[in-house]
Amino acid sequence: MKLPEIEILDEKDKRLHTISKDVSFPLSKEDKKRINDMLLYLKMSQIDKYREQYNLRAGMGLSYVQIGIPKRIFVVVDETDENVFENYVLINPKIVSNSEELIYVGEGEGCLSVNREVEGIVPRYARITVEAFDMEGNPFTIRVREDLSIAFQHEIDHLNGILFVDKIDPKNPYKNAENMREI
Ligand code: ZN
Repeated sequence: MKLPEIEILDEKDKRLHTISKDVSFPLSKEDKKRINDMLLYLKMSQIDKYREQYNLRAGMGLSYVQIGIPKRIFVVVDETDENVFENYVLINPKIVSNSEELIYVGEGEGCLSVNREVEGIVPRYARITVEAFDMEGNPFTIRVREDLSIAFQHEIDHLNGILFVDKIDPKNPYKNAENMREI
């Protein structure tokens, strides 16, 4: 399998703090190809063989703004079983409801744009319901929980120009951990 050519911006790049714009339909051929390339890139990054071959970091999600295009599109690839992957493409996503319960990734969140170790945790809703459009412009509603809920919130933050590191207080990187559930 050949790795799609995708260049991911580093956190030093100010474009990551752009607020992305809504997308109109139909999507162009280029956008459809780009989305499929992003999905394949993430999938390959989660397969040991390709990760080593191409010297990749494993990633679960990627937003358009991370490849320098400020449109409200993100993709997530979730490994549900060994080498079994579920693809998600969300266009113009909106969180329409959320749990009261908060969770966080105990080992810390990761991001393909953040190429360093970051200490600290980010509060996330344990469950969210999101309305979005698929690649054909059809609206749909999806309810996600746990790690998928975190991935979706992380990506929606990207569309609003926010990186997970922006949400960590360096003076108190584990603030309020006692009020949240670690996953
Ligand atoms: Zn990220």
